[in-house]
Amino acid sequence: MIESHSPVTGESLGLVPEMDAEEVAVAIARARGAARSWSQLSIEERCQQLRRARDAMLESADDLVDLICAETGKTRVEAWTSELLVTAELIEYYLKHAGRILAARRVGSGTLKTKRAWKRYSPLGVIGVISPWNYPFSLTMTPVVTALFAGNAVVLKPSEVTPLVGCAASRTFEATDHPDIVQVVTGGASTGQALVSGDVDKISFTGSVSTGRLVAMAAAQNLTPVLLELGGKDPMIICEDADLDRAANAAVWGAFTNAGQTCISVERVYAVESICDQFVARVTERAREVIPGKHMGSMTFAPQLDVVRRHLDDALSKGARVLLGGHQAEGLSGMFFEPTVVVDVDHTMAIMTEETFGPILCIMKVPDDTAALDAANDSRYGLSASVFTRSAERRDRIVRDIAAGSICVNDCLANYAIPSLPFGGVKMSGTGRSHGPEGLYEFSATKSVSEDITGLRADPLWFPPRRAFEAASKRFLQSRYHSSLRQRLRGLILGSTRHRQHG
Ligand code: NAD
Repeated sequence: MIESHSPVTGESLGLVPEMDAEEVAVAIARARGAARSWSQLSIEERCQQLRRARDAMLESADDLVDLICAETGKTRVEAWTSELLVTAELIEYYLKHAGRILAARRVGSGTLKTKRAWKRYSPLGVIGVISPWNYPFSLTMTPVVTALFAGNAVVLKPSEVTPLVGCAASRTFEATDHPDIVQVVTGGASTGQALVSGDVDKISFTGSVSTGRLVAMAAAQNLTPVLLELGGKDPMIICEDADLDRAANAAVWGAFTNAGQTCISVERVYAVESICDQFVARVTERAREVIPGKHMGSMTFAPQLDVVRRHLDDALSKGARVLLGGHQAEGLSGMFFEPTVVVDVDHTMAIMTEETFGPILCIMKVPDDTAALDAANDSRYGLSASVFTRSAERRDRIVRDIAAGSICVNDCLANYAIPSLPFGGVKMSGTGRSHGPEGLYEFSATKSVSEDITGLRADPLWFPPRRAFEAASKRFLQSRYHSSLRQRLRGLILGSTRHRQHG
């Protein structure tokens, strides 16, 4: 059994079974059975069912928020906004747009005018969803509802750190006429491994780079496709013409919301020399006002606190300075850590190159925008980024050249809350996209269809080969595709002459 604990009080919140491969296989088989009828529903019928699940979620919202806060230690406002609101908004988007996104589409048939062509989207079957502990509700519901809108059934394995929220999320689908479309398997790494190696049609994994790599390797054995939403080390660039008040407020919120345990947390800031000291002063002033236990929640997972301490110790030993914080919060039980501002950092320090995933904001002084961009891109991660500038030219250059899956301008962390914007990383931050049309296509197979519209007994290319058709093909090839009109005309004439010679 796995026991879930409150990170704040340490009290036991409940027990869930640690499921083995056999139990996972049973859940997959049950989901496959449910997928048969679910996939036959029209998209309108699926929307009707998922609207009911959304309403069930809203009716139990208070209990969900209580449970999320108990299991993660986050603040109530964070649970309402970044867990429930974000989820409701994504469901609303798909209720409005999934029909259009998944509708069959006519496409041109090129030169084959004798064919009608279209593409259609089919469900994949059963999706294995493996989710993390930092946003245990929204990062579970996002892949689950997206897979369901696309017509799949799901086997969900929530994080063993927050299994009760995962189980509660799955219960919202009991409000549909197809309660078996979401199966939950509880457990840790071995349960996750059994799901990845099981008879599933795709794995949607959200978690760390190291586990993502293991998942991709295991999935490769069966050539099971994987969607990987992995870690980040998100940079923020502060240009010399930035609105420093907004930039400082954004940096403080982006670094400390959810106690810094957000995959798109602002972890490293590159501020241009001419304004860096002013920016640091404003950040420190604002960060001082963020009170652990009141504005900022507890950290969730004890080993993550060790990573924070290790990164800080390494940075301090290499010359970094802590301007604010740096310790566990005094007078509070549990894993509350002070909002921490660090300067005099560089890329020899783990705190600037590895994901810290705690309430630590590092600020590095750089000579200019180019140096800021180079430093931002000097990372194995590429999840998200932000830039503060009043210049459209600077904005466009940085947006174009940043190596990240998304970027916010004069803002941070906003993209995840915009359901029409695809979300995902480049480099080690993952493959594939959630949200938007791309999110639905991740869980669909594109089927290509063409249909003959001539009704002829046979096409000219079919057996037996016709000499005239060969000549016509040659002429067609030369006269249609060359970009020079002269060459096209030449091809037309030569094609016939050469053919006559051969004949
Ligand atoms: P984790 O990688 O430790 O665990 C994630 C999930 O994988 C858990 O459910 C865990 O039980 C399961 N798991 C562990 N070993 C497994 C294995 N061998 N096979 C299959 N499943 C296995 O991550 P975490 O600590 O829960 O979450 C924090 C990490 O997630 C951070 O790196 C964070 O950046 C990342 N994250 C990414 C996104 C994103 O959208 N890109 C969002 C949130 C969190």
